Amino acid sequence: MSRQAVLKNRRTLLERAEKFISDIYFTDCNLRGRLYGDSCPLESLSSFLSSKRISFSEASKQNFAPHKVGDTFGPTWWTCWFKVTLKIPKSWRGKEVHLLWESDGEAMVWRDGQPVQGLTKEGEKTSYILTDCLTDEEPQSITLYVELACNGLFGAGKGSMIAAPDPNRKFSVQKAELVVFNRDVQELLTDFEMLVDIVKDLGEGEQRGYQALYTVNEMVNICDPSDPSSFPKAHTLAHKFFNQHNGQSQHTVHAMGHCHLDTAWLWPYEETIRKCGRSWVTAIRLMEKNPEFVFTCSQAQQFQWVKTWYPGLFSQIQHYVKKGQFIPVGGTWVEMDGNLPSGESMVRQFLEGQRFFQKEFGICCKEFWLPDTFGYSAQIPQIMQGFGMSFFLTQKLSWNLVNAFPHNTFFWEGLDGSQVLTHFPPGDSYGMEGKVKELVNTVRNNKDKGRANYSAVLFGFGDGGGGPTQLMIDRLQRVQDTDGLPKVQMSSPLRLFSQLQADSALLCTWSGELFLELHNGTYTTEAKIKRGNRQCETLLHDIEIASSLALGSDNTFKYPVEKLQELWRLLLLNQFHDVIPGSCIELVVEDALKYYEDIRSAGARLLQDACEALGSKGSGSPAVFNSLPWERNEVVQIQDDRGQAGLALVRVPSIGVAPVKDTKPATQVSVTVQTDTVVMENGIFRAVVNKDGSLASLLLLNANREAISDGCHGNQFVIFDDVPLYWDAWDVMDYHLQTRKPVVEVEQPVGVVSSDGLRGSVSFTLRISDKSTITQEIVMDAMCPYLKFNTQVNWAESHKFLKVEFPVRVRSPNATYEIQFGHLQRPTHWNTSWDWARFEVWGHKWADLSEHNFGVALLNDCKYGYSVHKNVMTLSLLRSPKSPDANADMGTHQFTYAIMPHTGSFQDASVIQCAYNLNFPLRPLRRPADAAPWSAFTVSAAAVVLETIKQAEDRKKALVVRLYESHGSTVNATLCPSLPVREAWHCDLMENPDLTRPALMTSEGITLNFNPFQIVSLLLTL
Ligand SMILES: [Zn+2]
Repeated sequence: MSRQAVLKNRRTLLERAEKFISDIYFTDCNLRGRLYGDSCPLESLSSFLSSKRISFSEASKQNFAPHKVGDTFGPTWWTCWFKVTLKIPKSWRGKEVHLLWESDGEAMVWRDGQPVQGLTKEGEKTSYILTDCLTDEEPQSITLYVELACNGLFGAGKGSMIAAPDPNRKFSVQKAELVVFNRDVQELLTDFEMLVDIVKDLGEGEQRGYQALYTVNEMVNICDPSDPSSFPKAHTLAHKFFNQHNGQSQHTVHAMGHCHLDTAWLWPYEETIRKCGRSWVTAIRLMEKNPEFVFTCSQAQQFQWVKTWYPGLFSQIQHYVKKGQFIPVGGTWVEMDGNLPSGESMVRQFLEGQRFFQKEFGICCKEFWLPDTFGYSAQIPQIMQGFGMSFFLTQKLSWNLVNAFPHNTFFWEGLDGSQVLTHFPPGDSYGMEGKVKELVNTVRNNKDKGRANYSAVLFGFGDGGGGPTQLMIDRLQRVQDTDGLPKVQMSSPLRLFSQLQADSALLCTWSGELFLELHNGTYTTEAKIKRGNRQCETLLHDIEIASSLALGSDNTFKYPVEKLQELWRLLLLNQFHDVIPGSCIELVVEDALKYYEDIRSAGARLLQDACEALGSKGSGSPAVFNSLPWERNEVVQIQDDRGQAGLALVRVPSIGVAPVKDTKPATQVSVTVQTDTVVMENGIFRAVVNKDGSLASLLLLNANREAISDGCHGNQFVIFDDVPLYWDAWDVMDYHLQTRKPVVEVEQPVGVVSSDGLRGSVSFTLRISDKSTITQEIVMDAMCPYLKFNTQVNWAESHKFLKVEFPVRVRSPNATYEIQFGHLQRPTHWNTSWDWARFEVWGHKWADLSEHNFGVALLNDCKYGYSVHKNVMTLSLLRSPKSPDANADMGTHQFTYAIMPHTGSFQDASVIQCAYNLNFPLRPLRRPADAAPWSAFTVSAAAVVLETIKQAEDRKKALVVRLYESHGSTVNATLCPSLPVREAWHCDLMENPDLTRPALMTSEGITLNFNPFQIVSLLLTL
């Protein structure tokens, strides 16, 4: 160091160093100004504009017209293809030469017909390296193509990121030229930047920060930007600092390249395919230059897309997967929403994902990877364990609005007691940049100090793709073991989790769901997507069961393996964490609804084929197929032989078929019109309906027990102002509850629709506003213990939230909500911040509020948002946010919910079964007139639900059946198949049989033991 005493002014020394590398100030004389040497224009630039996303081979055949830098093109979502011809000057021999490309939009460089690199200004990628060191042998005349998507990394929001896209945005190329890139300047800039950041981020309290300050100051003294021969001395000084090592106890950061790439969000699915191409080919280029660089990559669907659209890139990926640098993670088809998909959907996310990774890469992921989702079901640990996964990485809970989650590394215990080692990167981001601040925060924010000494740092631009840059890798490489900072190593998820596990003795355990205290509007937004999801889950369930039964009973039947996989994958795709939550743009909603239509139409044919195999083709007498594992006695709509529609009461056994017989109910449904009300009664309960459609009374007859709270009305529609702080489609805020207004204006008072003994129904219409109405049919069926509300809403509101309330005569501190393969309780009071932060929660087909020996359940056929506060049960129906989809939820909606008062517990009252019945209609088919009722499977215990029957993967003539314990009890059950089962084995969720555990088969059936909420899968050989 220089002998002259250095003044102790921290501020001037620090700013001096900052200005020395500034890209704004003093670039005429500072180091940054020397980053590029000579430049040279392109030989030619020409372009061709396409409204569609076309292939390279198609694009390269088009006529390209001359293009000037600065010319504008567009609009949004179009693609501009550029043809670039260039000639590198011979005099640049020995230099590193870049194509410098600064433009709006996201670009891909194509060379010799292959994608070679992504270019995105927002993602700090504006250089394509033509050569590291120009030699005489290299071609100097080169033709490249640049495919430029007219959208940014985050789509094209008008005015703000999440606003609806601007359809008319214009784009331009601001710079396109050849430059000499001075790598030595870049290296020194990185040294300077890291030291400056150490000074700033360690702060004034750390002596190490002052050591960095005097080091960087001395470097400015030594370094003459105009004289590269002065650089090595400055560089040496920096490295001396970086190489002063830590002690053994220092925290270790496991750095992994990453690129969180939303499968659709502010851009459509189709653009994601290209985002994958751009981001991943760039990661491959970095691997070629940095053999230690590791890139983690999730979502089998995206790999499948790249395999189809970029086969050359896919084989390079396979190569780097083998080398351990490109690491497929997560084991799911997409990074799905963690709340709304059904239990079986969750299983299929993993089944399709793990099988894909196994087939393409020979890899079975050990970690579930879901950085970004809006909550995590309490069944995820058990499902993960079923796929051989014990590790979970996520991050989103750091977004909690009310309560800070108390851990970064902990054991997460699920509903059934399964545990997984869970890590939230303490830097609270899945898109870090390798900066000092992130490393410092990772150590400081770690809530498990003293318990966990390892953390993940996921670096790379994310959400819209982009991924890591060379600069990020260089930054991390500088400070691998620098006293004062955590140790940094390039790592893999498996290495991180293995170390965490080896040192896990002191870790805490969190039991139950990981509830995100934010984005609670996503249980309701885009109601048609929610409905599509529920209906298609139901349809695929029924197709698989009917096809499995057909396989077991008809030798000629072919199980539709490929078609079912295709439909499942469409459903799983739409469960992506910005699609099913409804937080996507309108283009994505349109795609999603189209995929649901594809599933419905192709699914209807598959179901018909299977039902014909179970019955008879076209001719025969009317019959019904029951896909649920209990006997049902229900009123169904039928068509008689003359095609006349009518009603019939049918009795059909568990997972079976039965003829439609003209049976009479024990008690007929009566509908009586009185002065101000209509009274409906079916022998189980009596409903008194006011003229405005609300319920004055709901009386359970046997128990003589009123369900509606004194002086209140059930089925009360209410509307709220729904203006969040920022995340429009995502968030409903606590204060919306203060704006409650009952919907009271009657347009058409209650009138009787039908009253024929089997079914009684009344209907009415309410006005929500001069733009929106609710028309509802209240339906009471013979023998049915719940009252159905078939609802149609014409919805044209703006920032309003529609709900329906049932104030009930029940007092309980907890309400129960169905989740995947089970249920859980949440408080009905607002004692603590953890309680009131759950003012809006999610559930699946039912919620229940019970006190001892009496309760009320609220069922639905396509809704997910609930709240139960004190004694008021509320179902969330429709929202009307305006961004990112300006037309979200506008139009006509149909949905059904039901209210079910009951004695005893909800378990004993068959609430679970009733909610299934509401969602899974009996399916009509034709059978010979003399055919007797037939059941394929029965289960002896009411607590056990036989959820899934499907053909086993890769095995013909073998079925997988999946059951779960639904009551929260320890039970034994017997599964009795009437299909010819030869062998039965327990298997995991991957369908691998456990050869140590043959299932015990007796003449009674297969004996099974269940713990509370346990999922059991069996492999049955036919
Ligand atoms: Zn995301």
